[in-house]
Amino acid sequence: MITSLFAVYMTSAVIAAKVPSLKVHVPKAAHAHHLPRVHGLGAAKTTTRTKGNLAGADSFMSYVLLAVCPRTKAWWIFHRRYSHFHALRKELVTLRRLCQPVAGLQCLLRALDGALTAAFPRKRLLVTVTSPTVVAERLHSLQLFAAQLTLLRAVCSTEETKGLTHEALGILHHIGALMDSFLQAPAHLRHLRNTEGLFKASSKDDCSICLEPVGSDWSSPTLVLPCHHRFHELCLAKWFETEPTCPLCRATATHGTVA
Ligand SMILES: [Zn+2]
Ligand SMILES: [Zn+2]
Repeated sequence: MITSLFAVYMTSAVIAAKVPSLKVHVPKAAHAHHLPRVHGLGAAKTTTRTKGNLAGADSFMSYVLLAVCPRTKAWWIFHRRYSHFHALRKELVTLRRLCQPVAGLQCLLRALDGALTAAFPRKRLLVTVTSPTVVAERLHSLQLFAAQLTLLRAVCSTEETKGLTHEALGILHHIGALMDSFLQAPAHLRHLRNTEGLFKASSKDDCSICLEPVGSDWSSPTLVLPCHHRFHELCLAKWFETEPTCPLCRATATHGTVA
């Protein structure tokens, strides 16, 4: 899994370098609170050969995104095609209808509405989907949509379940599992409430990317890597646009905890 992700990633780095304005769009102010966030890291072009296709090949883009969820204390990198997002959105419309009459799901409904009212990139002709402008636009919109999905996931895993009916609990678990699987949340980070000690941060107090202290007042939240090194979220998101490794020790890093 990590190997294949890494392979996609290396391609993505090459492509991203040619695509203009693939910047991290999350403003610093967004870090003041504890809402889940998603950073668009890039897009990798994949070509598949299909029988009967005269052109001989179909190309599609796989979008690479970094999800940061302070509520469940986890961060991870995932990749998905536009068509996956499109199909999921359709499924959420159906689920929204199922949830509507069920008592006790107000938080879930609000999160679903958030996801369904977020701007969603429109369908395009197949020939245009690999154009740098379309890719940059889609990456931007998909990162906002995915942030809503990450919030939906957090609501499902942190929602107070006391007093909920069997039916309501079933819906909550179903949507939670759907989000875990769609967002490719690492299994061992799925049900954590307190990750202290899982990836214990090293004692070093500066982010070695920007050389500013981590955990200081203004700052962007701190992400801890499996190698125990830690960095500012924004610094790391920028670094991950190039490669999914620790900037300090170069160990592969595709998931970790939010300090
Ligand atoms: Zn930094
Ligand atoms: Zn490291």
